[in-house]
Amino acid sequence: MSWIEEKAHAELARIREAREKQVYPYFREFETGGLHTQIAGRPIVNFSSNDYLGLTNDPRLKAAAHAAVDKYAVGLSSSRIQATTTEHVVLEKRLAKWFGYEKCVTFTTGYQAMVGLIATSADKDTTLVLDSFSHACILDGTFLAAGVPGKAPEVRFFNHNSSKSLERILKTRERKNAMVFVEGIYSLDGDRAPLKEMVEICKRHDAVLVVDDAHGSGTLGETGRGSLEDLGLTSKDVPILMTAFSKSFGGIGGALLGNGEVIEMVQHAARSFLFSASLPIPIVSAVTTALDIMEESGPQMVRELHEKRDYMRGNLIAAGFELGASTTHIMPVFCRDERKTLFMHVALLECGVLMVPVTYPGVKVGEERLRVNVTRGHTQEDMDTALEHLKMYGEAFFVLSGEELGPYED
Ligand code: PMP
Repeated sequence: MSWIEEKAHAELARIREAREKQVYPYFREFETGGLHTQIAGRPIVNFSSNDYLGLTNDPRLKAAAHAAVDKYAVGLSSSRIQATTTEHVVLEKRLAKWFGYEKCVTFTTGYQAMVGLIATSADKDTTLVLDSFSHACILDGTFLAAGVPGKAPEVRFFNHNSSKSLERILKTRERKNAMVFVEGIYSLDGDRAPLKEMVEICKRHDAVLVVDDAHGSGTLGETGRGSLEDLGLTSKDVPILMTAFSKSFGGIGGALLGNGEVIEMVQHAARSFLFSASLPIPIVSAVTTALDIMEESGPQMVRELHEKRDYMRGNLIAAGFELGASTTHIMPVFCRDERKTLFMHVALLECGVLMVPVTYPGVKVGEERLRVNVTRGHTQEDMDTALEHLKMYGEAFFVLSGEELGPYED
């Protein structure tokens, strides 16, 4: 065996064990699209999806994508600098207006948008200040910037969602410019950054606040414009906003919004933008249609999502489940034990309910949970079925009582 084959074999020990015990939960193959799908020929309702407004399977998005394929093509065979279409520019202008920013640039993924922003903005005069629960795209952008010889920024972390800790870091930073990164809603815990306080702290310490609102866009604020709308904040408070189209917008891609020249700087320098192919036009058209739908709907779609969120949350709590710090439609069901989490997942899947387990190293040992996201696309029946099975297996596997599971028997 070559060293890389030996390494792969050793690294995969846990995966092999999970497969042998028939509890390996990942890469399950969907046989149709949308929240109501099929796995191995059996109908499944997906409760771990980020399709928060239920738009991925909307016929209007599909029709827009079909029309775009006919008019242009599927791909553009190049990066945006030489493969921009009118559709890209129209979407960017509309997003800038909708979110209340001077300018917007779209990326092929949200991950690339954040990595591109950080790698372009940070240098040796910068301190990057990160929440300790930051998403991989923020961490990786930071590591990339930190690895550039002679230009490495200072990197500091503050305690998750702690304004006090953030202020302490900003006060004691070593570099003149500071950039602070937070998320509107944290994707694994469903809790929200205390943005109002953080805006004030950043203003006091002359720091640029960047909000990743991938999970807040479409789900918060009266008309779905996200965390800022919900809290009455504007681009004057949050100079840079990032969002992703793979959640509420029912597609894929990312957007950066901010001051005209800042966005243009990123557009002319971000390697994740310049050296990677353009967002495909069928996706651009589908996302533009999702924006049309959100605009037409006004407060209606967000209200429907919130009604479902409240119903599910009320019933999960009444049943005795622990939802951690969640206050949103993302409501992790804590099992606090790897085996309990995997057994719950497998049992629920047998009943047609998909709730993906999140275990170590995705979360700390003792914080294992099922990923439960309620969306506008779930029906009353979906929610009631899921609740019924969650309660049944929550009791069977001692998630609800908190007792230990017995020894594993092969
Ligand atoms: N930020 C957050 C908070 C996310 O959860 C995600 C995706 N899960 C991203 C950024 C990256 O978005 P994308 O999937 O479009 O790369």
